[in-house]
Amino acid sequence: MQQYISQLNEAQRAPVLQKDGPMIIIAGAGSGKTRVLTIRIAYLMHQGIDAFNILSLTFTNKAAREMKNRIADIVGASEAKNLWMGTFHSIFAKILRSEADKLGYPSNFTIYDSQDSLRAISGIIKEMQLDRDIYKPKQVLSRISTFKNSLITVKAYFNDPELQEADAMSKKPRMGEIYQAYVDRCFKSGAMDFDDLLLKTNELLTRFPEVLAKYQNRFRYILVDEYQDTNHSQYLIVRALSDKFQNICVVGDDAQSIYAFRGANINNILNFQKDYQGVNTYRLEQNYRSTRNIVEAANTVMEHNKTKLDKVVWTANEFGPKIKIHRSLTDAEEGRFVASTIFEQKMQNQMTNGQFAILYRTNAQSRAMEDALRKRDIPYRIYGGLSFYQRKEIKDVLCYLRLVLNPKDEEALMRVINYPARGIGDTTIEKLTVAANHYKRSIFEVMQNIDRIDLKLNSGTKQKLQDFVTMIQSFQVINENQDAFYITDHVSKKTGLVQELKKDATPEGMARIQNIEELLNGIKDFTEGQKEVDGARGSLAEFMEDVALATDLDKDTTDEDRVALMTIHLAKGLEFPHVFIVGMEEDLFPSAMSMSTRSELEEERRLFYVALTRAEHQAYLTYAQSRYRWGKLTDSEPSRFIEEIDGQYLEYLTPAETNYRFKPMIDKDVFGDVDKSKLRLAKPVSSTPPKHITDNQPKPEAAIRKLKPVSSNAPSGAANLFDNNLTAGNIVMHERFGRGQVLNLEGVGADKKAEIKFEVGGIKKLLLRFAKLDII
Ligand code: ATP
Ligand code: MG
Repeated sequence: MQQYISQLNEAQRAPVLQKDGPMIIIAGAGSGKTRVLTIRIAYLMHQGIDAFNILSLTFTNKAAREMKNRIADIVGASEAKNLWMGTFHSIFAKILRSEADKLGYPSNFTIYDSQDSLRAISGIIKEMQLDRDIYKPKQVLSRISTFKNSLITVKAYFNDPELQEADAMSKKPRMGEIYQAYVDRCFKSGAMDFDDLLLKTNELLTRFPEVLAKYQNRFRYILVDEYQDTNHSQYLIVRALSDKFQNICVVGDDAQSIYAFRGANINNILNFQKDYQGVNTYRLEQNYRSTRNIVEAANTVMEHNKTKLDKVVWTANEFGPKIKIHRSLTDAEEGRFVASTIFEQKMQNQMTNGQFAILYRTNAQSRAMEDALRKRDIPYRIYGGLSFYQRKEIKDVLCYLRLVLNPKDEEALMRVINYPARGIGDTTIEKLTVAANHYKRSIFEVMQNIDRIDLKLNSGTKQKLQDFVTMIQSFQVINENQDAFYITDHVSKKTGLVQELKKDATPEGMARIQNIEELLNGIKDFTEGQKEVDGARGSLAEFMEDVALATDLDKDTTDEDRVALMTIHLAKGLEFPHVFIVGMEEDLFPSAMSMSTRSELEEERRLFYVALTRAEHQAYLTYAQSRYRWGKLTDSEPSRFIEEIDGQYLEYLTPAETNYRFKPMIDKDVFGDVDKSKLRLAKPVSSTPPKHITDNQPKPEAAIRKLKPVSSNAPSGAANLFDNNLTAGNIVMHERFGRGQVLNLEGVGADKKAEIKFEVGGIKKLLLRFAKLDII
């Protein structure tokens, strides 16, 4: 043990050696926070703390597994096995199962994924005959999710006029009713959605003091990684559980808080000192992950955020290569650049695929990357997006399996009641739904009693419904004595699913059958593995629990050498020798939706910080001048984040003419309070701007003086900085089109346009609200 402790630096050692009491470690990326947590747990066990008494909450189940493995290396596998370690959702799902009866739920409750939830919401919107264009299911679901994560129950909603008013204002006065219907529907189905796993845990701990006491006594030591991204609901759980012993250790980095849009509350980190008595605060400053260039460049990025804690991050690592910037014409070309760079690096430096990661802002960007990698025969793996378990054919099998465990599960039933087709039509399903609502029973129960209820169904239809019930019940009997593999194999054959797929002889159809085979292989692995665990039998229930909470990132594919593709959000906590951050363009990253408030823009900047700090050795920032978005070829401009990095850390791989910027940094900040000291000119992104631009340039100061200060209460979307003083004849500089002369102005306010003749590219009409023009 001592050997592991001596490998830590002094600052890291202190929180490991403090055994009891509340503590917080605030530190920048790559400074060893996760490592400290790992060693701390091992050391607690070394000091005689029982593994059963330690609870450790991580961001992904993969992170938990890795941590557990490392601890097993130190203290031995048989002890490490007993640690409670996982994501909030997986740990509390487990606890909820054993306490479910208290909340009126069956212990085999189903966990709805977002597809199920969306389907349920869509159904409700339809039943209530609301306009889907106003009540967009995704928006409604996200609103309900916000309620749940803020612990606003249906009752609380109806007691809060402000919330109701807000929904009425956004033309959704019936939001509360939908919320109510959704909660009822989930309850009737014996189902919880992801947010419920936290909400119901809170309910459990508040309503049942004896349950709270039990878990407080069990979890004497609690550790939380990535604490900056906990939401209110998670915060309350941690608070309640740690209240008795106060042995709580949280680690986080305010600069990496990137889930505010999902309700994460950075105040949880800022207020920690107030929440507990005698908190020890530790700071780690030395980064061990990245080169000096990357660490220092990342620091310069964060300097642009106003809201942040004072923090130092430095590294003793070598300078390493500069961050490489690449511009391409299209997203396809961007993909080709990434693929060929990986190809060359592998050849020249004997690197493996697994040493590269491609990070993007939105999942849709993966396509261009995939095309290019495939052409180069570079194996890759996409994390996130549609996970394996959400693919149609897999989800169909899983829905049958869910019914075996919980026949009340309405979303599962709806999905497979007539798939493969067995002559149960929409009218019949509607009649069943009405009856189920009327009798306050599940649809399955109505089907079980179909002979006794008069739904005006013909005898053929009744028989089909009864056959379906009998089939599911026969599966249940088999499931009592068999493992997950046996029952899944049986179900996929007996339901006709596999036969149905075999009818489709296209390559896609074959791929679907292969997917089912892959599912079966996975289950076989799972059941064999489970049988080695104490008390587990590899049952279907055990498997389904695993599946419901599995994220793509969790799959253990360490043996596969592939380039990793994922969104930046998913990359949190990970590290790779070479990292490509692609799509570095305005409106994409920072995202177009994030530019209306400073706090949203700052969150995007933190996201960029997270992306950059994943790189150990080399970071590449790439952007395209045009890309297909929403099916249209759209022009794009380099992201402001590129120029926010101090130029000394950058190396341009492509000529930078069109990168040349001459715009004030306040351009998009007209909505907030404008600090005049921020009125500075962006430096050219190339250290040697092309000659035609340097010639005859006015001094930057002169240009600054010409800028009119912006009124601090300018409404969002207000007219451009310059629309008041721009007149025909002015010479202007546009960041992409270069120099030009204003010929004409037309329109007023937000619609005001300028006709400009550019030196290169000719005459263009630009909407001043969006055009980035400087008068020179
Ligand atoms: P993030 O904020 O990105 O989650 P982190 O603070 O959790 O980062 P770790 O992932 O724990 O940082 O550590 C970053 C890298 O530095 C890891 O590869 C880790 O093994 C290494 N490392 C941490 N501390 C030391 C140390 N004292 N000596 C050598 N290597 C270290
Ligand atoms: Mg970490």
